[in-house]
Amino acid sequence: MPPKKLYIKTFGCQMNVYDSERIAHLLAAKNYHLVENPSEADLVFLNTCSVREKPEQKVYSALGRLRVLKKKKSKMIIGIGGCLAQQEGEALLQRFPHVDFVVGTKEISRIAELLNDLEAFGKRGLAVNLNGRLDPYATLPFSLPSSSTVVAFVSIMQGCDNFCSFCIVPYVRGREVSRASQEILKEIQSLASQGVKEVTLLGQNVNSYGQTSPGDLDFVELLKAVQEIAGIERIRFTTSHPQDLSTPLIKAFGKFPKLCEHIHLPLQSGSARILQRMNRSYSPGFYLEKIRDLRQSCPGISVTTDMIVGFPGEEEEDFHASMEMIEKVQFDDLFSFKYSDRPGTRATLFNEKVPEGIAQRRLVELQALQRKITWKRNKAWEGKDVEVLVEGRSKANPEENMGRTRTNHIVNFPGKTLASGSIVQLRIQKAYAHSLRGEEIL
Ligand code: SF4
Repeated sequence: MPPKKLYIKTFGCQMNVYDSERIAHLLAAKNYHLVENPSEADLVFLNTCSVREKPEQKVYSALGRLRVLKKKKSKMIIGIGGCLAQQEGEALLQRFPHVDFVVGTKEISRIAELLNDLEAFGKRGLAVNLNGRLDPYATLPFSLPSSSTVVAFVSIMQGCDNFCSFCIVPYVRGREVSRASQEILKEIQSLASQGVKEVTLLGQNVNSYGQTSPGDLDFVELLKAVQEIAGIERIRFTTSHPQDLSTPLIKAFGKFPKLCEHIHLPLQSGSARILQRMNRSYSPGFYLEKIRDLRQSCPGISVTTDMIVGFPGEEEEDFHASMEMIEKVQFDDLFSFKYSDRPGTRATLFNEKVPEGIAQRRLVELQALQRKITWKRNKAWEGKDVEVLVEGRSKANPEENMGRTRTNHIVNFPGKTLASGSIVQLRIQKAYAHSLRGEEIL
């Protein structure tokens, strides 16, 4: 049988990138091979995100385009997975007759079964049980990194128990469940044996790994065990909650040589009052203490964050508190978003919605401030020597190599083509807004 063609479009976060890779390998066993264009595909799978309104709208736009495509290619199969699939379930099948199956966040291992039913009986499929499978990955083949041969994501937990008032994750990914440590370690050993050098441990709140469900190791012990896997040179993790950033974890940064000097630590707001309304359980002062401890334990660690502007009830003074925190912490970079109501979350019930124009103005101001800080921090790398893991060719200039520092900065550099996975020492020559440029130290 000739191979069938699969196109996967991934929306949203790294967790979805990981899920897409696992789905691609699950479907490889059904003779599906990835293609880059939906118009070539026999099966189009949208791995969706509903964490904010914008990615959700993008999914609906993509579904509109696919409706047109399916009119020309009536045999094309369209499947939807991810958070929007979990959130909307059957409503997606009702609203979009050209969609063939909908699969929830805990049911991805059932995609092959849904396809079989579709092929054999023409039955449109729906599998959105959030409570059925503790580890949705347990029966899937190991994730082989398709986008890069040397860096890979590994999910270590699913779901979240924190119920931040703006966040839909606990409703669409379920309550927090840690994967068994031995499963995770086996997966990383397999990746290492296939040439992976860097792993990023993924979860909505990785630093509470093992706390609420039976992971055999706690998070620091897990990091230690990963560090002992031969072939793995670098370890990263994301995302962390400030409340679970324990002293042993902070100390691990200075102690575990493979643990990279970068942490993504979402702050969300600099206002104590807004943090409380967000149900974030820490104060700006607590957050600053964590940053101080991290920088003491690991001087030079890079810190990135997430910020929300326009949360219901955010006054001008709350916004200024956010701006002050950004000045105080001096983040290396941040991801900023305008608040949007997510169905079923507590914040949708808060009345004091911030007008769109004000939220937009705050977003622009906040991003302008961070651009200045990022530029200053990037500039400070000029003249410094760094270790870079080569990931491939530079996107901007395919004549050059591209890699990442341990602090997660992208560096492009000239010279002969180096194999992905090489580790080289570079001197940084020039800083740009989003990357650095270096030269090999010979
Ligand atoms: S910690 Fe809060 S923001 Fe993060 S996934 Fe959990 S509920 Fe959402």
